[in-house]
Amino acid sequence: MIIVLLGPPGAGKGTQAARIMEAQGLVQLSTGDMLRAAVAAGTEVGIKAKEFMAAGKLVTDEIVIGIIADRIEEDDCRDGFLLDGFPRTVAQAQALDKLLNDKDRKLDVVIEMKVDDESLVDRITGRYICAECKQGYHDTNLKPQKADVCDGCGSTNFTRRADDNRETVTARLATYHAQTAPLLPFYAAQGVLRTVDGMADINAVAVEINDVLSRL
Ligand code: ADP
Ligand code: AMP
Repeated sequence: MIIVLLGPPGAGKGTQAARIMEAQGLVQLSTGDMLRAAVAAGTEVGIKAKEFMAAGKLVTDEIVIGIIADRIEEDDCRDGFLLDGFPRTVAQAQALDKLLNDKDRKLDVVIEMKVDDESLVDRITGRYICAECKQGYHDTNLKPQKADVCDGCGSTNFTRRADDNRETVTARLATYHAQTAPLLPFYAAQGVLRTVDGMADINAVAVEINDVLSRL
């Protein structure tokens, strides 16, 4: 199965991707995670991407399409994959269609996670992750069961993203509306778009997504 999770920053894509991965045995491909790894490693891609990411702008189509083109050729993508944060422009979506067509593959579903902009600011500024196993948390919405101890791996080391600050969030939301929202009519026209209520609590969103997947 090939799934795209589409939605603004903070919509809950990463949170739900972790659950879908577990339930469906699919690998999660997050271009944001890949780019942050490239920045941390100081690779050529990382050096090119860093300024765009810090400003809340999109990295060039050429860079992210190149990353995804290589990644989906790997063995663990043979039976399908879950895209989180890609595509983010119509040009990226067209490139993805072509990459899949060339291999006689196709997208099964695009799941839009719909969340109000006001809630997104709170979700993003309250987000943090375990520095060891990368499990995601939120200051008020999703705390570890034992204070300051990761549920997943027991680490007490947590970290926040450099771009999860109020100024960059505003730019990232504007970028989403200008460049990524046009993907909604694009995928609706292909008949693959399904919309879930991302405002619901995390478990309820997971149930709605499971429902969408079970109807395919
Ligand atoms: P995205 O990957 O779309 O940027 P995340 O999955 O990282 O978003 O979620 C952003 C923040 O909001 C995280 O701190 C997460 O714990 C929290 N969150 C995710 N889904 C929900 C939800 N349905 N309700 C409340 N908070 C949520
Ligand atoms: P994310 O982790 O999905 O919130 O992405 C973090 C940042 O990485 C974005 O604000 C962009 O600068 C960059 N990025 C991630 N995915 C893409 C993409 N598909 N196209 C362009 N830029 C991207």
